[in-house]
Amino acid sequence: MPSRRIDAALEDTMLQRVVSHLKGRFTRCRRCGSEPHHVRHHGRPSSEPVQFGPVAPRHSLECRFGACTGQHTLLAAAEAEWNDKHAQAARRGRKVA
Ligand SMILES: [Zn+2]
Repeated sequence: MPSRRIDAALEDTMLQRVVSHLKGRFTRCRRCGSEPHHVRHHGRPSSEPVQFGPVAPRHSLECRFGACTGQHTLLAAAEAEWNDKHAQAARRGRKVA
């Protein structure tokens, strides 16, 4: 799985990991047709004020052509944003049970 773009975006204070899921877990991107990656963000972005204590990992979905969601504390929230903004319409070509 290509992850070079994400590796290049690594910063000192942030660690990003691509989390593997079964194929077909997420709805494909409506623009490029590829399935998004689940990216887990550890640490804190340097733009945020310093907080003490552990920081919960956040989640985003990104396709390899640049469509991405914001960072959410819950994967389900990231998935909801993805479905709302970037995903292909669910009812075309596939039946939703
Ligand atoms: Zn895309």
